[in-house]
Amino acid sequence: MPTLNPRPTDYQIKITPEHEAVRQVARELAKKEIEAKVKEIEKNNSIPPEINKRLAEAGFFGITISEKHGGAGGDALMLALITEEISRVCPACSTILGGTFLVSEPLQTHATEEQKQRYLRPLAKGEKIGAHAMTEPAAGSDVAGIQTSAKPVGDKWTINGRKIFITNGDKADIFLVFARTQPPPSPDKRIQGITALIVEKGTEGFTVGGKINTIGLRGSQPSELIFNDAKVPKENILGHEGEGAYIALETYDRARIGVAAQGVGIAQAAYEQAAAYAANRKAFGNRLLEFQQIQFKLAEMAMNIHAARLLTYWAASLRDQGKEFVEAASMAKVFSTETAEKAALTAMMIHGGYGVSTEVPVERLLRDSQIIKTYEGTNDIQRLTIARKLIKELTG
Ligand SMILES: Cc1cc2nc3c(=O)[nH]c(=O)nc-3n(C[C@H](O)[C@H](O)[C@H](O)COP(=O)(O)OP(=O)(O)OC[C@H]3O[C@@H](n4cnc5c(N)ncnc54)[C@H](O)[C@@H]3O)c2cc1C
Repeated sequence: MPTLNPRPTDYQIKITPEHEAVRQVARELAKKEIEAKVKEIEKNNSIPPEINKRLAEAGFFGITISEKHGGAGGDALMLALITEEISRVCPACSTILGGTFLVSEPLQTHATEEQKQRYLRPLAKGEKIGAHAMTEPAAGSDVAGIQTSAKPVGDKWTINGRKIFITNGDKADIFLVFARTQPPPSPDKRIQGITALIVEKGTEGFTVGGKINTIGLRGSQPSELIFNDAKVPKENILGHEGEGAYIALETYDRARIGVAAQGVGIAQAAYEQAAAYAANRKAFGNRLLEFQQIQFKLAEMAMNIHAARLLTYWAASLRDQGKEFVEAASMAKVFSTETAEKAALTAMMIHGGYGVSTEVPVERLLRDSQIIKTYEGTNDIQRLTIARKLIKELTG
């Protein structure tokens, strides 16, 4: 994506009536099946299983999976629209889809036909939930630093190690686990020697540990996973031995569009709540909406939200057109998640004292926004990715 000499055609966002139809279904589902449960989800820190069921019935788990493997054969923009609409109401609920996508997407790209029938099909149908296990206590951004190992013993791989912060860890049936199977060939090739392994729930030696309580996305608290001589069949390798980190990084590039869409949904919710409050609340005999400083705040929110949405749809659309999308996805992720944070803070300010009350749902948006800035590659790491591309373009 040239920044020095961009062409207008680089900015084509292709939206069809099918995209709008999918968005409407997601909006209605969020309204009818989720909205009334959000308070309970926050209070209990748990998402009722009926919500998974509804998301599955709507076909959302398999929206980007081929029809041959139980999905809808849709595109990245459809998934972004679904994620935005669900996140507008309950960002935590969208993580069930996002966490499963982190398994189904690499399966769709790299699995054998047998693996697709056994693992991808039930994930696409939402009959099974997926969890992607890379992060460890001592390695997050630095994927190559993972210490979990897998050793060949007979016709199995024996896995040892610990993973933390794993979304869907407590709900998943199918785990994609990254483990070092060979030492790095050299210090500058640390990314090599990591292998992706499919691990089923209930595998001997594999346990799901405690949940990690995070300030936001309540109901979707990530879990710890423990592998103590856990054995999986040799054929459970995804792709080629030693190339798992490449599979993971490619997956994050794709999934990042979904995190950007979560940001748009959160920001939109913040705007709607702030605008409604400003239209009704009176101070000094005027509605808040009549004060210019409130109008400016709303105008600022609106500008940022439209820009975040355009960046997100753009990144998705580039991917769907088979064009280079990685830099756009990083930009969309940073801009949208930071727009969500700013919009949530502004909405809190507009709500005055009620903004900091836990009885009013606006403070939740600020807590949720903090998490999306972190996962799928922190925003610092995205800035690095963007800067690397710019430097490459500048230096040829
Ligand atoms: C709610 C939640 C859900 C998650 N779900 C999953 C999941 O499903 N699967 C999974 O594998 N992981 C998951 N994660 C982990 C997440 O991807 C990591 O937390 C994230 O990648 C950051 O890693 P870290 O926490 O180890 O921080 P670190 O990598 O230690 O980073 C700490 C700080 O240093 C900065 N930093 C690090 N390296 C650099 C650098 N080179 N240049 C500049 N700054 C740098 C970071 O931006 C950050 O501010 C989840 C995390 C959370 C909070």
